[in-house]
Amino acid sequence: MEELTDEIAALGEKPFRAKQLYQWMHQKLADGFDEMTNLSASLRGRLKESYDYIHLEPVDRKISALDGTEKYLFRLGDGNVIESVLMRYHHGNSVCISSQAGCRMGCRFCASTIGGLTRNLLPSEMLDQIYQIQKISGERVSNVVVMGTGEPLDNYENLLRFLRILTNEHGLHISQRNVTVSTCGIVEKIRALADERLQITLALSLHASNQEKRKQLMPVAYQYELRDVLDACRYYFERTGRRITFEYSLVGGVNDTDTDAKELAGLLAGLNCHVNLIPVNPVRERDFVQPDRSVVLAFQKKLEQRGINATIRREMGRDIAGACGQLRKSYLEKSQTE
Ligand code: SAH
Repeated sequence: MEELTDEIAALGEKPFRAKQLYQWMHQKLADGFDEMTNLSASLRGRLKESYDYIHLEPVDRKISALDGTEKYLFRLGDGNVIESVLMRYHHGNSVCISSQAGCRMGCRFCASTIGGLTRNLLPSEMLDQIYQIQKISGERVSNVVVMGTGEPLDNYENLLRFLRILTNEHGLHISQRNVTVSTCGIVEKIRALADERLQITLALSLHASNQEKRKQLMPVAYQYELRDVLDACRYYFERTGRRITFEYSLVGGVNDTDTDAKELAGLLAGLNCHVNLIPVNPVRERDFVQPDRSVVLAFQKKLEQRGINATIRREMGRDIAGACGQLRKSYLEKSQTE
């Protein structure tokens, strides 16, 4: 709002015009300057000359017959495509957004990283995933998870701007407590985010209970020691008072044994946290498989016996390629063969 007020002043306009403009962008969710009917035609003309109005173009929408989950594919101004998901829960609607087009983190089980990183998303491109979904579905979005394609802490400045506008009282005003940012563990950025003292939830993708195993699944582990990642999580809790969520994708025969569960419980002992177990989503290019349901349940039980809070993530949108990067990937493959 401050920056907008300065820009508007530079155009020789009164400060209340900035408020009107902000409201059009972030509350009424306009797709362009032409919709802003309480601004004069001449001001709209000057705005159009001076600024690009970023908005996403919906190209596909798939609705799950199983659970009502909706998957969206959007085209960016430069032709790149990204995906977002709308999930319906008892407590409200949650949107999962992408933070980058592609990803350079290389996690072995993830479809989003196969083509590498194309580029960072702008704050406006992160926001508009939520704005478009709210408009198209006609339903209010109450929760946002930055868990789609990309590593949000690899796009840190844009992420922060996005978080501030998303939770600003003059915009959608989503409560910080209803926002989760998921990271593979970029240590210095976790610490920086902690110092921002936002009330958002940090989700840390752990997936292994020791450094060696983590390296096999997540190349980022070559850059950061597990010990340092966990220290950064402790720091995040100290600074914000927010309990950490650890994500642990269970891969059959790789990280799902009793020994793994025991080691994991030891690793997290004394940390104010919650473990989210995700039976791995099989990706065509990878030969990882889900453990049997009984193994997943036993893993959870082992953690709970050792005093670690653990839940199993309910799978949503299975029939519409709901998991990380699958829809975007099949779209890109299709457009390459056409
Ligand atoms: N880069 C961020 C956020 C995007 S991934 C991160 O690493 O956290 C969101 C979550 O989905 C991460 O925990 C990621 O490890 C997990 N994930 C990715 N592909 C998966 C798959 N095929 N099965 C299960 N979980 C997966």
